[in-house]
Amino acid sequence: MPAKGYIEVNELYCKACELCVTDCPFDVLALDMDRLTPKGYHPAHMVNPEACTGCGICATVCPDAAITVYRYERQKTEA
Ligand code: SF4
Ligand code: SF4
Repeated sequence: MPAKGYIEVNELYCKACELCVTDCPFDVLALDMDRLTPKGYHPAHMVNPEACTGCGICATVCPDAAITVYRYERQKTEA
């Protein structure tokens, strides 16, 4: 399934609570165990970006408003 959306995590706000990881219905997200935020948390990041639908659930559940969701515009096709 082609990606319909993508997300950005503001690492200044992410506290690695994992709510977005567990609530994403398409298993797009995980904590990045190789990196630390400026506050010392492993930030959420996309591990399965092609599955992102842009549904926005991750941004809704994030208690720290760390996630911004973007949706791709549908291309118009010539008749
Ligand atoms: S927008 Fe939806 S599909 Fe994409 S990462 Fe967030 S919860 Fe998952
Ligand atoms: S819900 Fe927000 S604070 Fe929690 S891991 Fe995801 S981005 Fe970070």
